[in-house]
Amino acid sequence: MFSKILIANRGEIACRVIKTARRLGIKTVAVYSDADRNARHVAMADEAVHIGPSPARESYLLADKIIAAARHTGAQAIHPGYGFLSENAGFAEACAKAGIVFIGPPPPAIHAMGSKSEAKKIMEKAKVPLVPGYHGDDQSPDLLAKEAGRIGFPVLIKASAGGGGKGMRVVEEAAKFADALAGAKREAKASFADDHVLVEKYLTRPRHIEIQVFADSHGNCLYLFERDCSIQRRHQKVIEEAPAPNMDPARRKAMGEAAVAAAKAIGYQGAGTVEFIANQDGTFYFMEMNTRLQVEHPVTEMITGQDLVEWQLVVAAGGHLPLTQDQLRIDGHAVEVRLYAEDPNRNFLPSTGTLVHLRLPAETLNVRVDTGVRQGDTVTPFYDPMIAKVIVHDRDRTSAMRRMAALMGETEVVGVTTNAALLKALCSHPAFVGGEVDTGFIERHHDTLFAKPAPANDRMLAAATLARLLEFEPAAQSNDPWDLKNGFRLLEAGHDEVRWKDSEREVAVIARRRRDGSFGLELPGGPRDARVERRTDGRLVIRLDGDTFATTVARRPTADGVDYAVFADGTSRTLRLVDPLDVTQYEAVASGEGAVRAPLPGKIIDLRVKAGDKVSKGQPLLVLEAMKMEHTLAAPADGTVKTVRYAVGEQVAEGAELVEFEDG
Ligand code: ADP
Ligand code: ADP
Ligand code: MG
Repeated sequence: MFSKILIANRGEIACRVIKTARRLGIKTVAVYSDADRNARHVAMADEAVHIGPSPARESYLLADKIIAAARHTGAQAIHPGYGFLSENAGFAEACAKAGIVFIGPPPPAIHAMGSKSEAKKIMEKAKVPLVPGYHGDDQSPDLLAKEAGRIGFPVLIKASAGGGGKGMRVVEEAAKFADALAGAKREAKASFADDHVLVEKYLTRPRHIEIQVFADSHGNCLYLFERDCSIQRRHQKVIEEAPAPNMDPARRKAMGEAAVAAAKAIGYQGAGTVEFIANQDGTFYFMEMNTRLQVEHPVTEMITGQDLVEWQLVVAAGGHLPLTQDQLRIDGHAVEVRLYAEDPNRNFLPSTGTLVHLRLPAETLNVRVDTGVRQGDTVTPFYDPMIAKVIVHDRDRTSAMRRMAALMGETEVVGVTTNAALLKALCSHPAFVGGEVDTGFIERHHDTLFAKPAPANDRMLAAATLARLLEFEPAAQSNDPWDLKNGFRLLEAGHDEVRWKDSEREVAVIARRRRDGSFGLELPGGPRDARVERRTDGRLVIRLDGDTFATTVARRPTADGVDYAVFADGTSRTLRLVDPLDVTQYEAVASGEGAVRAPLPGKIIDLRVKAGDKVSKGQPLLVLEAMKMEHTLAAPADGTVKTVRYAVGEQVAEGAELVEFEDG
């Protein structure tokens, strides 16, 4: 076995490979670009090498730099992850030349499957069933159009070099073929520098079912069952599960054996996936083979109890497959969702930004979270915007889906838009849970899956209001503003009105603090008695009359206001604070005596007056930073400044006398 490997990737897959390597006592080397200097995978690895600027083509796609990094650090092997250089035969060859093991299949096998057209020719020979279509070399538009007519519309045009759903066009009728072909070729040229295409029958309501295969260098090859990846958007996977719903053992065996035949036909070694497109009646056709570890491999690991990265390492080091075909069993059901920083309501447009608050589901024996980010990290435009994969294992499909829906409801992300609500809607959709599975599911059920979110209810309004009020609660012993019990000293006697903007509507909540530490809240639904306590994990436990619930309120200042994201009852809502509590209240604290005192503990960040200055009522005196907000303190009346007791940068306690005035 290797003693040190380099991972030529980033994000969750780099972290996931490091985890297995660590368990096996193998040292790891990470590589990183400028944007990833402080990334999680860099922190997790034993060593890390900077390989260039943020764009992938200037860093993660630079074969020479990566090989040099492996040499320099003494790594014996390179794990390419997925994407980037993972299916680049040239890179695999360059590794071999440098005396470094490429943890993947032999270069000719990568090459054979690199073109979907060439792959189909090989599969045809191996007697693996193919979708009716044309995958020849002649690319003249007339011939392709004629072939489309022979196949029968609708047809699908695909880039031979394609991946990630790029260069793909569905054509419904002959009249639209020429335009679609030109579009597919343009996209293929731009994405893959190769505009060769193939044409195949476009199946209606198909399922994407793929088989995990594994082969070693001793002639052993087996399949680790199937994954159903039919829930897709724009031909890209969103939810994956194993085993496939309604799969009968005979069909499983047939597909598994076809996949093994495909792998054997190209002298395969390592982990690979043979993707099939299947009709609802179960008939299936070869689509493509991905010669690497797949994004969705964890569902296979969950149902088989195996670690596929460990298998990859064993095979790459020349070992035998750890098990034989008849030693493999399916245990229960596993489902994976891809939590993306993207906006489903804007055609899945990626969303970038800093993850100011991030609470992913907690890992347990049956819940796995693969992620490459932490709270505070930034989702940049440079790479795939996946935040995490969440995987659940349960005894059956219904239970797994129910669990996943609940986990998506508990997932809290502030700073970027995510597809969490859509994932929850999918996993709790009666049709999907009932076994309706095909690649058109999301589009067909668009109206129910993308239902307009409800306005904030009283619980959410109460939570945001109480969180807002807690910001003014001075800390008892500690300086941590979150480490508070209930009680409210600052605005002792009075009442506060907190105004929220909830989408289009504006809502005011009146809060009265009582002596016993509770609050009287006037909410849209009526008056309620409220108590709040902040748990050590930052969540708020709120009691509204007799009803107790836990909630997270994450505060996020933006360019044009302060947002409060409230997570409660499995959903979330972002409320914009209107007219934050301002200086007028602090004036009240200051008036009645010859001095202005600090209304809350904080730091002086600006002084606008000095001793001897004449000031008029309402004129700003100084700026105090407290609770991550700036508070301007103004003169309570006309007068002359006698003393300024603190300097910029100094920390002041609550009630400290800041500015003293001349008598009168
Ligand atoms: P899968 O079937 O595993 O989703 P894809 O071919 O769609 O396979 O892509 C696998 C992953 O590789 C994607 O999730 C994406 O993050 C990454 N990927 C795809 N294309 C590229 C690319 N050109 N450069 C870098 N990463 C890519
Ligand atoms: P990629 O390399 O982008 O992964 P694939 O050939 O694997 O391309 O196809 C991606 C997706 O496109 C499939 O999962 C499926 O949803 C859809 N698709 C591919 N071929 C067909 C087809 N013949 N009929 C209907 N849908 C198809
Ligand atoms: Mg594919």
